[in-house]
Amino acid sequence: MQHFPIFLAVAGRRIVLSGGGDAAMAKLRLLMKTEARLTVIAADPSPEIHRWASEGKLRLVRRAMQPGDAICAALFYAANEDDVEDARTAAIAHAEGALVNIVDNLADSQFITPAIVDRDPVTVAIGTEGAAPVLARAIKADIEARLPQSLGLLARIGKRFRHAVEVLPMGRKRRDYWADFYFNAGPKAFDDKGESGVIPALETLLDDHITATDTAGHVDLVGAGPGDPELLTLKARNALDKADVVIHDRLVTSEILELARREAVIIDAGKEGFGTSMAQEDIDALIVEHAQQGHHVVRLKAGDPTVFGRLDEELAALETADISYRIIPGITAASAAVAQIGQSLTKRHRNSAVRLITGHDTKGYADHDWKALAAPGEVAAIYMGKKSARFIQGRLLMHGADPATPVTIIENVSRANQRIIATTLAEMEPTMTNAALTGPAITFYGLAPRDAAAQSLKLREFA
Ligand code: SAH
Repeated sequence: MQHFPIFLAVAGRRIVLSGGGDAAMAKLRLLMKTEARLTVIAADPSPEIHRWASEGKLRLVRRAMQPGDAICAALFYAANEDDVEDARTAAIAHAEGALVNIVDNLADSQFITPAIVDRDPVTVAIGTEGAAPVLARAIKADIEARLPQSLGLLARIGKRFRHAVEVLPMGRKRRDYWADFYFNAGPKAFDDKGESGVIPALETLLDDHITATDTAGHVDLVGAGPGDPELLTLKARNALDKADVVIHDRLVTSEILELARREAVIIDAGKEGFGTSMAQEDIDALIVEHAQQGHHVVRLKAGDPTVFGRLDEELAALETADISYRIIPGITAASAAVAQIGQSLTKRHRNSAVRLITGHDTKGYADHDWKALAAPGEVAAIYMGKKSARFIQGRLLMHGADPATPVTIIENVSRANQRIIATTLAEMEPTMTNAALTGPAITFYGLAPRDAAAQSLKLREFA
């Protein structure tokens, strides 16, 4: 982020603009929405600027800018539509301590004005750091269409009403009240009766919320997918949007946690305060405890919660405590990884079944039906298989698997630092150790990346 978005307090402060043509007017139309004191310096201002000056919306100085004109200005706009004059006036303003924007000159500007959706006091600012004005306009149009015109009015009334709502306990009850007001009762009252209908609606709504019985907590057990936020389901996104508390695994990426509601309490159940890893019973207790306080808890698990996710223990704890829950599936590492190597998990005439196996379980290296796996054409996705690689390799070879069977390791699937390592069963170790994997990795036994598969097929044809 090269530009940090902030909202600047400009009420009563000076903003100076040099220029009197179209560029100046475009900026002035925006600036006149603020409560700043505007000064326009222009030798030849347009008739509109004259009019605005006569209406007292700005102060007009009819000459070219001179040193001293930008003293005490918070912001300065050079909108002369002339590079030389822009540079000259900007230098004056800069020397006098104003933050400078030169219209249509990103490189020499100290700040830029975003595209704005105005539902004052609700303001949405959209910026692309000059990279894509078309995109900014499209996003603005989209948000304009989504936000009702009455929103600003509702927000102003809501602000005055805030103290009255303090009778509701902080947290979820208050949030529920406001959500109901802004998105349901408020717009409805405004549509039915106009501005005068809004306050009575707020009062009735408050009575309803005071008398409503306590809302019970709820837990969503959500699959976060392999890491790329775009691989989240919409249901997962919506759950994150509503969460009071997010309890997540070690493998859940920060980009995904960013999507959680701003006020949500985020708890890392992979570490934080509990040593390197938290015992499952403690996680169960933590989820139950937060839900019992009436919170909407999102239990966020990497991949799909039903795959090596210890989901059943958590479900049992929720059932014992009689807490409502919902399971939201996610894209498991095997699905995401196989897409990255251009293969299918199952394929006609190759493998009609695929096994999802774990390298180790609570007791140590996990045992499997090695004999069945060693048969030609078998495919397995090995989760948590880094430490057990040599064990798995040994077992498979011992049970007669072909040493040339392809093995593909994919580390950090769907993330910027993803790596694909193609090898064979014979070379699985030391390849894995040599690769010095640091991120989560999944191993496909019996699958090569599509390109490599095509290549080896060709080689065989020529042999
Ligand atoms: N529920 C998860 C699996 C949890 S077990 C899922 O459905 O994907 C943890 C193992 O999942 C890791 O050891 C690794 O083998 C695999 N895994 C999870 N995320 C991964 C990722 N982004 N890249 C590669 N492997 C991943």
